[in-house]
This record gives sequence, C-alpha cells and structure tokens, in this order.
Amino acid sequence: MATREEPPARCPVCETVYDSVSVHESGLMVNLLDNERYRRVCFEPGTRGDTSVIRFYHHTHGQARAESADDVRTE
Ligand SMILES: [Zn+2]
Repeated sequence: MATREEPPARCPVCETVYDSVSVHESGLMVNLLDNERYRRVCFEPGTRGDTSVIRFYHHTHGQARAESADDVRTE
C-alpha cells in the first residue's frame, strides 16, 4: 500500500466517513468511554515527510451507527 501524505475521504480502517482526523508523532492516551461526541477512533500508521505518524480518524456516534447502511463507495 502506498504511503498517504493526505488523509483519504473515508477512514482507511473501517471505510466509514469520519468527523475529523488528527495526526500524532508520539504516544498519547485515548479514552472514549463517556465521550458524547465520538463513538470510535480508528488508527492508521503512516509517514509525513520523513516522520512516522499515526492518524486518528474520529467517528461520531451517528457515523459509527451508519456504517452498514451507508455503503456508497466514492472511489
Ligand atoms: Zn474508522
């Protein structure tokens, strides 16, 4: 798989639309147990320039629920 410089339109992990994407170069803690906005976060390792990064794709509760019903592929 080619290394992505820009995040795709859909989450590459679960192929569901996402609300936002964040890029991290170091470790961090994720706690979504009582998060009112986001239901799920998917992680994709990659690179940005010469730096290894991890992209976090944030899915809201609605997006996570709609993953099976919203099956339209745009690619
Ligand atoms: Zn995802």
